[in-house]
Amino acid sequence: MICAAVAPVQTTASLRHDVRGDADSRLEALRWPRRGPVCPHCGARHAYRMVCERSGGVRFKCARCRKPYSARRGTVLERSNVGTGPWLRAMALFLDDPGRGLAARIQRACGVSYKTAWSMARRLHESPDDPILQALRAERGADGRAVSHPFRERTSP
Ligand SMILES: [Zn+2]
Repeated sequence: MICAAVAPVQTTASLRHDVRGDADSRLEALRWPRRGPVCPHCGARHAYRMVCERSGGVRFKCARCRKPYSARRGTVLERSNVGTGPWLRAMALFLDDPGRGLAARIQRACGVSYKTAWSMARRLHESPDDPILQALRAERGADGRAVSHPFRERTSP
């Protein structure tokens, strides 16, 4: 007997919203690990935090130059319509194994279309020095493997 178990497909919209707040805080911590937001326009550290009521997205307004910015600016997430949660998941997959099949793995894990997953994979490959990727890499330790993953530890040579 063949049992085909098909997992329900989550829509991109629901993935965007269910993890939005947590993922954005995580992104901020990765982007500015020491003392909070830094204005990309003038370098000031004092900013007003603005949360969009509709989407829950977080933006900042610089207290010195008054220009708005977000934690996504200057990272591979800049100018992307994909939510922060799916992006962080895609980055973890990239660090696990940047090789072939990355787009398909991103598509499965993030619930995005293959076209979107492919462009995410391309951005990751084109930006090895992305600040968020570097921060995640540093968290994983020198060999690039997730230090807190019990099963992965066992399979490492
Ligand atoms: Zn500024």
